[in-house]
Amino acid sequence: MYVCGPTVYGHAHLGHSRPAITFDLVFRYLQHIGYKVRYVRNITDVGHLVNDADEGEDKIAKKAKLDQLEPMEVVQFFTNSYRRNMLQLNILPPSIEPTASGHIIEQIDLVKRILENGYAYESAGSIYFDVEKYAKSFDYGKLSGRRIDDLLSNTRDLDGQDEKRSGVDFALWKKAQPEHIMRWSSPWSDGFPGWHAECTAMSKKYLGEKFDIHGGGMDLLFPHHEAEIAQSCASLGHEAVNYWMHNNMITINGQKMGKSLGNFITLDQFFSGDHPLLERAYSPMVIRFFILQAQYRSTLDFSNDALIAAEKGLERLFKAMELLDKIVVSENSTVDVATLKNNCYEAMNDDFNSPIVIANLFDGVRMINSLNDGKESITATDLDVLKKLYSDFVLDILGLKQEAAAAADNGVLKEVVDFLLNLRMEAKTNKDWATSDKIRNGLTALGFDIKDKKDGFEWELKK
Ligand code: ZN
Repeated sequence: MYVCGPTVYGHAHLGHSRPAITFDLVFRYLQHIGYKVRYVRNITDVGHLVNDADEGEDKIAKKAKLDQLEPMEVVQFFTNSYRRNMLQLNILPPSIEPTASGHIIEQIDLVKRILENGYAYESAGSIYFDVEKYAKSFDYGKLSGRRIDDLLSNTRDLDGQDEKRSGVDFALWKKAQPEHIMRWSSPWSDGFPGWHAECTAMSKKYLGEKFDIHGGGMDLLFPHHEAEIAQSCASLGHEAVNYWMHNNMITINGQKMGKSLGNFITLDQFFSGDHPLLERAYSPMVIRFFILQAQYRSTLDFSNDALIAAEKGLERLFKAMELLDKIVVSENSTVDVATLKNNCYEAMNDDFNSPIVIANLFDGVRMINSLNDGKESITATDLDVLKKLYSDFVLDILGLKQEAAAAADNGVLKEVVDFLLNLRMEAKTNKDWATSDKIRNGLTALGFDIKDKKDGFEWELKK
């Protein structure tokens, strides 16, 4: 499985979390049902001119210039930040995480093959893919449904100065302008590879000429993935990918995300609550659970209300799981665990339908609560199946984990909170109300619920 990874010139935002979580679910489930999966997710660290016209500024170089850093410092900083966010979201690291800058040789090799096969041409030191020629022998547009004639009529007229023969052609190699910092030597010029080349070159290197799944966000379908198909066919003579999977987009309060709209929220901002659109912080597991509540092909709208509802749902799920250890077994079962289990697998087998899995798990929550209340009964064998079902689906497949409670169980945390609350009691005895309030408000803001007692205090970590 190959998934297009992030371009690392800024912190990961909400838009990055959806493909990461979607393909983490696929990765986890395929392994759960017994497949050996090689999961390759790249890091785009070559500063591409990320627009269709192969023009504009290189975003990594722009950031490097602005902050007076080496481009590779920018890349390393945001790669570290991305990986940290992925760990917070409990996303399993891919089997291989190749970088574009580490595979320039493979990309040059790809460009050479396409040139040899006659589907590319050189122009002023740059190499362009000849889309019109390609479309005579192959189906350009088969993935996106776009038609070459429409594309041709929609592209702006070339002004004669343009290096490209046609507006639909895309760059395989770009000659670097003197001010361009990230550059490598090639048979054609000192320059850098075109954006689409890296995924075709790296997927072939690590997954071979034919592999099963290629994933990414729907925004990559055209031109990126269409161009990947063209590059594979033009270099190998056949397609490389058996199944294309695209996750749909995320909107915020019904609006598309964008820097200019002021609704561009990074994952760190979600986790800290530090953004004007956020009423408060949301934990990584709430974000993960919320994303899994929609099937990956549906659009998903973020709002404070929806996130708060997700948080409550997640809490209910974990509370029920805690009850599983307290249930007393009987001679007979009045509950149907086998059907519940079957429904969960059926939903996953139906194009990774996580919302249906979650709905079934909530049916199970009602079952667990009734068992705990003694309204239903269960045998020891069925209870084992039920426990395994929840641990398999909630922890291993959906990849959820209990955050707040796990932290509260931590002995050191307990000692630190007790220490702070003892300091507060001292402050109160000394009538130092400012310090007393400061400690209380600080802990409350972190999610602690503090109750004053006659001879001390009680506390609990909410969430
Ligand atoms: Zn890609």
